[in-house]
Amino acid sequence: MHETERRSIPMVNPDIPQTYLPVYPDQEQVDMSLNHIRNLPPIVQRADVDNLTMSLGQAGYGQAFVIQGGDCAERFSDATRSHVRAKIGSLLQAAFIAHNLGNTPVVTIGRIAGQYSKPRSHVYEKHGDLTLPSYRGDAINSHVFTAQARTADPQRLVRAVESASTAYSYITDLEKSFFISSINALEWNTTGNQTKQYRDFASLVAEHNDIYSQRIYISHESLLPYFEQAMTDTAGYNRGAHMLWIGERTRYASSPQLVYAQQVHNPIGVKLGPQAQPKDIHRLIDTLNPEGTPGRLSFIPRMGAGHIRRVLPQLLRAGKEDGRPVAWIIDPMHGNTLEVAGRKTRFLTDILEEISEFFDICADEAVDPAGLHIEFSGENLTEVADSPQSPELEHMLDEALVDPRLNPRQLFDVAFATGQLLAKRR
Ligand code: PEP
Ligand code: MN
Repeated sequence: MHETERRSIPMVNPDIPQTYLPVYPDQEQVDMSLNHIRNLPPIVQRADVDNLTMSLGQAGYGQAFVIQGGDCAERFSDATRSHVRAKIGSLLQAAFIAHNLGNTPVVTIGRIAGQYSKPRSHVYEKHGDLTLPSYRGDAINSHVFTAQARTADPQRLVRAVESASTAYSYITDLEKSFFISSINALEWNTTGNQTKQYRDFASLVAEHNDIYSQRIYISHESLLPYFEQAMTDTAGYNRGAHMLWIGERTRYASSPQLVYAQQVHNPIGVKLGPQAQPKDIHRLIDTLNPEGTPGRLSFIPRMGAGHIRRVLPQLLRAGKEDGRPVAWIIDPMHGNTLEVAGRKTRFLTDILEEISEFFDICADEAVDPAGLHIEFSGENLTEVADSPQSPELEHMLDEALVDPRLNPRQLFDVAFATGQLLAKRR
């Protein structure tokens, strides 16, 4: 492969305010959709939102570890038994490994049942002579490349809630069944059961026969404040997800996404890219957790393996200086996105390196590593490459709908590495 075919994705500048909100052809239709959403049954329970806040608080103090993950962007068509099972199964496998190798309670949060809207760096996408608005997630438009499909459609907001509700209802069925019990660990997701990684997992299962099961919480990026507001009850709980996060692109001062998040009780995560500064930490804590409630605020650094060492230490120090509790959850995906031969990808080697750096930096700064935020699929696809040396790189990559996800085998590598780092944690 020629070096020129590989390029980094330009960094976003979070200090340049952009709302990333879609423009609809007809506002009246949007209002009708939102009114309908206000009357739909809630998806999650308030008590569970509070339980998750408490668990995140414990993670912030090093008493638990969060594994948060799933697709970059879910499709409505993913709200099926097989997709949900595969994703939850993979999440449980990763949690089992972190729990048993790391000897720590794990809090599992899916990027699932509502991860339907995306802030896109490129407003337009070009194929041949045709330029159309980018795909922004199923809650906004369709990935199909026609002018009609790419037009923002307010009916999709209603379908987003309905699909989330369908997916979460199945997740609660799995919680009530034996599926989530560790007794069932070998049935969680058998994709890749021919691999060494799966055999290592099976050996770990054989060694650890204490039986446990854990709750599955759901989360998504809080990108569309009017939509999130329609899912918010009179007590100030967003009933569409347990946890919400704010993206790197929309965390600037007084962004509509931040203003909305200030008003809800749910735990909030904020992504932090390599341009984040200590003053952002102080501002975000003041804005989102003025009272210092443990678990209310998590920071999710996504620096890239090449930047984390330079940027993260001063941010951790700013958090300590402030003194109000924060849970630090590493996202080793979003700072490591590259383009190879026109396809977005990431290298597993970079992902593993950023996780390992994160644990080292936390140890140096005496901050507890609280969790891991990842994008993975429960299916056997190749969107992430194992390393820059992977042969035939440009031919083996599957096209990622939005961002490249780990496959189940790569997720095992990430989980084992994380478990080992947890075990050695200083
Ligand atoms: C994402 O989580 O898919 C995402 C867009 O992340 P970030 O805001 O960190 O770029
Ligand atoms: Mn993503």
